[in-house]
Amino acid sequence: MTPDELEASVWRLLPVTGPATDPAIVLRIVALAEAYADAATDEARAVRERRASIFAAYPPLMPCGTRAAYVRHLRHGEDPCRPCRDAMAEHRRLHRAARAARAMGLAS
Ligand SMILES: [Zn+2]
Repeated sequence: MTPDELEASVWRLLPVTGPATDPAIVLRIVALAEAYADAATDEARAVRERRASIFAAYPPLMPCGTRAAYVRHLRHGEDPCRPCRDAMAEHRRLHRAARAARAMGLAS
């Protein structure tokens, strides 16, 4: 059930003259809202399960002490741990050395 369908169903139940005062109609509207909420919950569960299966298909995460883990810390808004900072420093050092070597024409 889409939000539009819920709204249309509720409008069909409401009296033309004003708000629903008949308890039977109020109960039917409540039942509609509950069915809508249940459907939304089912959809959310399906999305979670789909994501979980996609995530399970990924290779395991790189451990701390790697550049990938350093970047992951930052993406999660964390301060990288010591091993990750060391790994990133080493990565940058190697990168700088390789660039300097290229600039001097010593390597391609
Ligand atoms: Zn780390």
